[in-house]
Amino acid sequence: MKAKGNRKIAFVLQSTSILPLLLLGIIILLLGTQIFKKSMYQEVEADLGNVCRNLVTYFDALYPGDYRLEEGTGGGYRLYKGDHDLTTDYELIDQIKRNTGLDITLFYQDTRILTTVMDHEGHRIIGTGAAPNVMEDVFAAGKAKFYTRIFVFNTDYFAYYIPLKNSSGNVIGMFFVGKPTADVDASVQSSIYPLITADVIFMIVVSFIIFLYTRSFTSSLLQIHRFLREVSAGNLNASLSSEALNRRDELGEIAHSVVNMQHSLHSLVEQDSLTALANRRCGDQRLKQVVHNASANGKSFCVAIGDIDDFKKVNDTYGHDCGDLVLKQVAQILRRHMCGSGFAARWGGEEFLLVFEDLDLEGAKKLLNEILNDIRSMECRYDDLCVSVTMTFGLTPGNTSNVTELLRTADERLYKGKNSGKNQVV
Ligand code: GH3
Ligand code: MG
Ligand code: MG
Repeated sequence: MKAKGNRKIAFVLQSTSILPLLLLGIIILLLGTQIFKKSMYQEVEADLGNVCRNLVTYFDALYPGDYRLEEGTGGGYRLYKGDHDLTTDYELIDQIKRNTGLDITLFYQDTRILTTVMDHEGHRIIGTGAAPNVMEDVFAAGKAKFYTRIFVFNTDYFAYYIPLKNSSGNVIGMFFVGKPTADVDASVQSSIYPLITADVIFMIVVSFIIFLYTRSFTSSLLQIHRFLREVSAGNLNASLSSEALNRRDELGEIAHSVVNMQHSLHSLVEQDSLTALANRRCGDQRLKQVVHNASANGKSFCVAIGDIDDFKKVNDTYGHDCGDLVLKQVAQILRRHMCGSGFAARWGGEEFLLVFEDLDLEGAKKLLNEILNDIRSMECRYDDLCVSVTMTFGLTPGNTSNVTELLRTADERLYKGKNSGKNQVV
């Protein structure tokens, strides 16, 4: 039942705090990765587009005139721009490749004339053709286009194609600038990994803090619950753990309140409100406990019942308030003498029960006579008056574990004392 409650509260607290956190962390991770990837791709597109457009501008500035294909002297075709033979002019594109890692190709119609892309043996793949979809999108349509996946001779590229036009406006070829997909993915991953790591570490740390807090919270809550259950079952001496009491939050305040409630209940139920001695119910319980302990460990004890002599006269002569004052002072004397030797309880109106623990009849009789002497010499000041009383005690040794019999014997001896002059220990 206890463990189930614990699990229930801990489960609810953790599932309403840790789960949304984890969910949020995962969403941020997925969304962040996608957004980051997209912006990296856009950056690559812009870079490739710039290089591509700059190449066209360089070629136009360096070699004014139109592109044209002419038959070479030794057979085969050569590409000219204006008067310049471009066919083996690799200097510029090789330089760009060395600086940026980008591959560059100049197509005449669909055929590679100048390129930095090599085959396995390190030969430029001159004379090979462009992909049909590129011819359709760029060459035929006359528009630049960016591709995130173009396959060129065994390698996937992020590629930017731009159409090349002559002064007449006719498309005669294309420029290609590409970055291997593997390179782009590697740089995306190297930028995203720290982000993922930070996100995961954050989630773990926060979840752990929440876990620790909920664990200590539910533990304190259960301790308070256990304490309240004990108090409600009648154990007014139950104690609450310091873990709950030392908390500095509202739960700590609740813990203090329930302990205060226990103290209030304790005095309400077990204390006599006038004399602050144990009341009859509590005195009876404690006597039973003493009898039980004595029969378990063989220690001796004694029981006495005392009654103030002619107390009615005190009330009648000086008033009820004065009677109360006398009761309080008598109780003070009883408490002082019994402290460390047993306890006193208010047994009825002006009757008191005294239980001597760990004392034989001689010891108890001696202590009782000291008490009686103190009461005889007690002066109770009320207005200008000085009131004195005496008491009669019936004392019996704890020679039986029958509590009723013990009380009856003490009572009989008290009566004997009352009938033989009062103001004495019998
Ligand atoms: P005895 O010597 O035989 O004991 O005579 P007594 O007058 O003391 O006994 P009795 O039983 O005739 O009267 C007891 C009185 O105690 C009567 C009652 O009004 C008074 N009394 C009981 N409880 C209280 C209390 O709480 N306050 C006050 N002031 N008086 C109380
Ligand atoms: Mg009396
Ligand atoms: Mg009486």
